[in-house]
Amino acid sequence: MKTIDHLSLHALTVRILRAGGSDATEAQTVADHLVEANLSGHDSHGVGMLPTYCKNLEAGTLLANQTPAIVQASDNFAVWDGRSGFGQKIARDAMGWAIEAARTQGVAVHGLRNTHHIGRIGAYGEIVAKAGLVSLHFVNVNSGPPPVAPFAGREGRFITNPVCIAIPGTATTAPVILDFATSRIAMGKVRVAHNEGKPVIAGALLDVDGRPTTDASVMYSDPRGVVLPFGEHKGSGLALICELLAGAIVGAGTLRTATPPEQGIKNAMLTIVLDPTRLASRAFIETEIDSLIAWVKSADPLDPAVPVLVAGEPERLKWAERLAKGIPIDDTTWTQICDAAARLHVPIDPV
Ligand code: NAD
Repeated sequence: MKTIDHLSLHALTVRILRAGGSDATEAQTVADHLVEANLSGHDSHGVGMLPTYCKNLEAGTLLANQTPAIVQASDNFAVWDGRSGFGQKIARDAMGWAIEAARTQGVAVHGLRNTHHIGRIGAYGEIVAKAGLVSLHFVNVNSGPPPVAPFAGREGRFITNPVCIAIPGTATTAPVILDFATSRIAMGKVRVAHNEGKPVIAGALLDVDGRPTTDASVMYSDPRGVVLPFGEHKGSGLALICELLAGAIVGAGTLRTATPPEQGIKNAMLTIVLDPTRLASRAFIETEIDSLIAWVKSADPLDPAVPVLVAGEPERLKWAERLAKGIPIDDTTWTQICDAAARLHVPIDPV
């Protein structure tokens, strides 16, 4: 295990992305997103994705420096086709459009299709919340075969379909950023556990014979096992809704076995941004936010060593810790990053 300070990791990430063909703005935006995912504690969506991105650039399933095609546009409805470009850059630009449209129209609806991996969805909720607006994001991943079984099933039909809902903060309360995969654990976390040779949490995986297991390697065998949805029928239902909203209604296409598997990681996302002050006064909303968050956090903890937190807090705590102590990178992930850098003749030395 290595620990690397975020600035060195960011600089290395920019160098790899630039060598992969990204212009300075794209490399900066993608590096910001990846390193911030690590800082937030979501290593599954951090710099560990770089080797996959480099592989997909080589395969042509990820294209550098893409400008999205505008499929539909009105004052507050838009659909963009990301043309297989870097999702982190295109989705960030989409949030800029949605924030402006929601400010003038009260609500904005954005559909993103056919973009390469958009990473940690909470990053988009944070951007919108910072602008004082509310956002809802529903995501599908159109790159089969699907690893997540529907409730009561033992064959994959979904692909972790994340949901994010963000509520802006106030002068004294931080934004609430609820952001999770609808699977019991994100696939990236299975990858990290597999790389580290560690077991995953119980109740998250079935092996190929449908038996519960904590062994992440069942997802890397052929045939492979499945990941279970979180919350039984509830998470399974939410995954179905993500697939229908992002896949069917945004027009990206849903993930089915008919989907060609060799298209890298393709994300689609339905984003709804709304100006809360069109519904109630800012003063009322902020008083309620301050009071409710304080009330929830005042609950007596089950274990005095484990405080009651609200969504968004674990990421902020981890961020402060990793800013001070550095970002841990497991040996397998580090080797994969070094190999990807070497293929692009990028020196590692300064790290
Ligand atoms: P997770 O299980 O760690 O849950 C994260 C959410 O739960 C956050 O909102 C967090 O603030 C909240 N939370 C965590 N611990 C808490 C506690 N003790 N008290 C209160 N709230 C708490 O997340 P995950 O399901 O592993 O997802 C990880 C990341 O993967 C997310 O950022 C998600 O967007 C991303 N993801 C992306 C894709 C994609 O296709 N781009 C697919 C799947 C997941």
